[in-house]
Amino acid sequence: MQVIESIEEMQALAMSFRFEGKLIGLVPTMGCLHEGHISLIKKARESADKVIVSIFVNPTQFAPNEDYGDYPRTLEADLEQCKKYGVDIVFTPSKEAMFPEGFSSYIIEESVGSGLCGISRPNHFKGVTTVCLKLFNLARPDFSYFGQKDAQQCAVLKKVVKDLNVPTEIVICDTIRESDGLALSSRNRYLSKLQREDALYISKALFKAKEMAQNGVSSPDRIIAEITHIMGLKRRIRIIYIQVVDKDSMEPVRKIDPEQTIVSLAVWIDNIRLIDNIAL
Ligand code: AMP
Repeated sequence: MQVIESIEEMQALAMSFRFEGKLIGLVPTMGCLHEGHISLIKKARESADKVIVSIFVNPTQFAPNEDYGDYPRTLEADLEQCKKYGVDIVFTPSKEAMFPEGFSSYIIEESVGSGLCGISRPNHFKGVTTVCLKLFNLARPDFSYFGQKDAQQCAVLKKVVKDLNVPTEIVICDTIRESDGLALSSRNRYLSKLQREDALYISKALFKAKEMAQNGVSSPDRIIAEITHIMGLKRRIRIIYIQVVDKDSMEPVRKIDPEQTIVSLAVWIDNIRLIDNIAL
């Protein structure tokens, strides 16, 4: 396994892989790897000849009041995990190399990213799309792997790749959960025991929503009301949004379509922001 910090070296190596006809799989991450990330790596390993994992805590997707400075950084452990799961290249560029003084070119998707998290985190997706486009240009992936856990991020990136004819296929992988239902997230490390107990009501509420839809409830309002009720039982949970949306457009829907509809939500557990979603 090779660890590459230089963006020039990464791009040159990716070009040489392509020249040799190798299929490249890219797994973009911000590190602090957990089973969710590992599932993406395993999926990449199934289809790609060369698996590249990027580890970069992207400053442009955090607002000044968010947790960029405190975001968990565990490079040594991450490298061990990558090695264990057969990653070929770990790309760890510096902030200065990715966003040098004077950087001024951004990718802005204006529709799919405008609602939900786009409202409470106004510049978040601009940072995500920009860093991902840079990573696509550097790693030249045939396939790029993302987790359904970040449903809106997946939808935004699919739209950017389609609109801008980016030659990579976005592969979306299932959300990995703890055995009790909590979706894995690097931010779960921030949770105290009591906060974690309350956070469990997020997945409880989402599972209930799915059960309702499976039992024939077709009204988004009833689903939202039930989720609000269940999460309302826990005093540390503050709801940022709960929406029943189309998984591609991220637009609210009037009627549930089992193929296309998801419930997506964001909450605060005290000062920790968590997101989750479930297909109905
Ligand atoms: P992050 O390091 O949080 O930026 O996440 C990197 C990638 O891992 C993104 O595509 C996430 O959607 C994905 N990911 C994070 N948590 C999970 C999870 N619990 N299950 C599946 N994928 C995940």
